[in-house]
Amino acid sequence: MRRWLRDIADFFFPRTCRVCGRVLLHHEEFLCMQCMLDMPRTAFDSAPDNAMAQLFYGKVYVERAMAYFYFAKGSDYRRLIHRIKYNGEKECGRYLGMMMAREACTQHFFDGIDFIVPVPLHYFKELKRGYNQSEWIAQGIAQETGIPLCTGELVSRRHRVSQTHKGIYDRYLATREAFELLPDSELVGSHVLIVDDVVTTGATLAACAEALLAGGVRQVSMATLAAAK
Ligand SMILES: [Zn+2]
Repeated sequence: MRRWLRDIADFFFPRTCRVCGRVLLHHEEFLCMQCMLDMPRTAFDSAPDNAMAQLFYGKVYVERAMAYFYFAKGSDYRRLIHRIKYNGEKECGRYLGMMMAREACTQHFFDGIDFIVPVPLHYFKELKRGYNQSEWIAQGIAQETGIPLCTGELVSRRHRVSQTHKGIYDRYLATREAFELLPDSELVGSHVLIVDDVVTTGATLAACAEALLAGGVRQVSMATLAAAK
């Protein structure tokens, strides 16, 4: 947007920081400078044996894994994820995907990755929500890195059981084998980056990775906006 147009828009409809609520300056997007600086970054992109990568040890081989920042219960950054996931703030998801990619590029995190694949939402869930938040985050990463986005080839095969009230093992079982790579996919033989909004137990990401590898993908890496702490 042209600067003067944004200035006029800001005057009538002030944009506010999605974390602290302060009115944004014209060069700030979604988050104020202070909240971008204060973001509890994981620095996983510079640590191959990080806590997220360890979630998959002994389950599925993952080349690289990173989350942009930590979210703790009740933290403002957790509310940020909630806004992206349930309050329609998909553009904010894309913006943070871009910012994450910009920072992780300096660590060569995306080297050798051929395609970016968002974790698919089940059809009915996406219909209800109107969008897939992971796809918007993945779009931001694709935009920044120039790596092509591939949607519609990794598909969700059954409705994922609500994860809110279940134990870790139940959640793992509930999401297992819920994904499938369509036959003759262009992803076969490639290195795929799987993108999701958050990682908690890693069950969903592991199920996606298993499905991709079983379908002929050569290598998988993973990136999420946030990691539970
Ligand atoms: Zn702020």
